[in-house]
Amino acid sequence: KATVVEGDKFDDELATESLDESNAKSALEKLQEDRKTLPIYPYREELLKAINDHQVIIIVGETGSGKTTQIPQYLHEAGYTKHGKVGCTQPRRVAAMSVAARVSQEMGVKLGHEVGYSIRFEDCTSDKTVLKYMTDGMLLREFLGEPDLAGYSVVMVDEAHERTLSTDILFGLVKDIARFRPDLKLLISSATLDAEKFSDYFDSAPIFKIPGRRFPVEIHYTKAPEADYLDAAVVTVLQIHVTQPPGDILIFLTGQEEIETAEEIMRHRTRGLGTKIAELIICPIYANLPTELQAKIFEPTPEGARKVVLATNIAETSLTIDGIKYVIDPGFCKMKSYNPRTGMESLLVTPISKASAMQRAGRSGRTGPGKCFRLYTAYNYLHDLEDNTIPEIQRTNLANVVLTLKSLGIHDLINFDFMDPPPSEALLKALELLFALSALNKLGELTKVGRRMAEFPLDPMLSKMIVASDKCKCSDEIISIAAMLSVGNSIFYRPKDKQVHADNARMNFHTGNVGDHIALLKVYSSWKETNYSTQWCYENYIQVRSMKRARDVRDQLEGLLERVEIELSSNPNDLDAIKKSITSGFFPHSARLQKNGSYKTVKHSQTVHIHPSSGLSQVLPRWVIYHELVLTTKEYMRQVTELKPDWLVEIAPHYYQMKDVEDPGSKKMPRGQGRASSQQLGS
Ligand code: ADP
Ligand code: MG
Repeated sequence: KATVVEGDKFDDELATESLDESNAKSALEKLQEDRKTLPIYPYREELLKAINDHQVIIIVGETGSGKTTQIPQYLHEAGYTKHGKVGCTQPRRVAAMSVAARVSQEMGVKLGHEVGYSIRFEDCTSDKTVLKYMTDGMLLREFLGEPDLAGYSVVMVDEAHERTLSTDILFGLVKDIARFRPDLKLLISSATLDAEKFSDYFDSAPIFKIPGRRFPVEIHYTKAPEADYLDAAVVTVLQIHVTQPPGDILIFLTGQEEIETAEEIMRHRTRGLGTKIAELIICPIYANLPTELQAKIFEPTPEGARKVVLATNIAETSLTIDGIKYVIDPGFCKMKSYNPRTGMESLLVTPISKASAMQRAGRSGRTGPGKCFRLYTAYNYLHDLEDNTIPEIQRTNLANVVLTLKSLGIHDLINFDFMDPPPSEALLKALELLFALSALNKLGELTKVGRRMAEFPLDPMLSKMIVASDKCKCSDEIISIAAMLSVGNSIFYRPKDKQVHADNARMNFHTGNVGDHIALLKVYSSWKETNYSTQWCYENYIQVRSMKRARDVRDQLEGLLERVEIELSSNPNDLDAIKKSITSGFFPHSARLQKNGSYKTVKHSQTVHIHPSSGLSQVLPRWVIYHELVLTTKEYMRQVTELKPDWLVEIAPHYYQMKDVEDPGSKKMPRGQGRASSQQLGS
């Protein structure tokens, strides 16, 4: 049984244009005309007047109405960029890049000149830049260099409803500077917003609503819960493709891996169908996808074909793709969760909220009536989904933010003007961790180490690892490792039909069971020795793209070393020195082997396992240190290196005592056991 969401009718005559005319016009003129068809356009003058009259405005308008692409241009046209930049923040990297690219096209300028973007490790702006799109995290970092944001005349905190950690902190900071910078304009914008709450927070700022266009959306639920939503999603795509009238499909998945898997299954199942069915154009979109391919999702679908876009939450409100008529919503997203008791953070696939489900469904009814296929039951929707997503600040590790705030001279964190305060337990945990890392002293003040750490746009444990490498004289190796860890888990390539070859190639870097960190270092150094050869990457089943990104990140980290006066020193043969530096940052992430082959974290006695992708997953060293935990079927440690337990006491005597690292199980667990299996693996 279908539920129908009511919506206003909209005359779509407006959007059609005679072909002859558009051929005669330049692309730029065409884009200028398209701008005038957006729902926000009729409100241009009214909006500019409101901005002129008020310092802070809350703007609410349906996704696709033109908030992100148009408002900064209106401000530019109205002269706001004469004495400062217009900055517009986005919670996601892809959105910042993609929107900046679009706006530069509309303005007929080169991306990076008048219109640019800035995301972590990638600054595509210049002295000319007046419209700057950036991630919320980047604006937060800009406060470190420019605490009054003097270079900006307008700051637009966009997608405010996402309530990312950085956005929430920005709220407090921009609200504060607005008080002593009456010339600064602040816009808080979003598609769905509890506008009253935001208005209250910003001292009763006026709310500007842009009426949207919406067509009715038919919502279909599954009769019974789906055991495998990925498979169900693919089946649904094919069903829509063969039974439904033209119109593109949008599927919401949880991340890159899942998107790639879905793409593969879909290509496999449509192969050989030949001309029996219409062409299905599969367009994935995620952060690590090359920009040319990202742009593909916006290309108009050729006559007779159908496009299917595989996206994460990004397509919920941040990106608008025209022509979507069908939405498939499996009902999940990847979300950070944090246990303040143990200080452990995991990325979890979690059910979405009702608010998210409504947004997703709405994406199908933008240009005509749409259909949304929810791969869960109506009962699930009503009874199991939360109304709203919990703001990130209430479910994350706050160490990074606390370090940033401390560097900004904000000491009284308890009384910081949070829209929704974080749990005090989480604040306390963050302070404890920073103290353990020697970033803060006993009084909670920033130390020299802490000040150096804050210079790096990395998590505090990674920053600490880098700062500590100074003493171990291996900063060169450590920044390579940090860069490789920062690009995530997309270094090794494992095609389905060549898994054995790929695994063998990967194990080459693990010779001697050096651990995953050193293996990453070896990959990087070997690539560098081949003078960054693409061929070498192919031969070793390594993703060139990820490597290039790691090189960029590494270059920037090298630049930052100089800023904090750490010499670039290389010590490639002293693996213990390198591992000790890693331990200096990651000692809270230590674990000890149990009799049954699982591990227990030293500090909190949580049961964890080595991730099967780790080079040590068959070796099972007695003591390990891990980079992160991921929870799938089990709680897995990803990126693992063997550790000498004495190091823990030597490096972090304030954190570990001898009794923590003494080994009661040593008699029952002969040392040889792990080694034997490692030799089997090597042969
Ligand atoms: P909002 O921020 O209100 O959701 P946007 O300003 O992002 O709306 O989008 C307005 C319109 O601009 C969209 O309907 C879409 O047609 C177009 N658009 C936005 N980004 C792109 C892009 N990267 N490529 C092509 N068209 C785009
Ligand atoms: Mg937008």
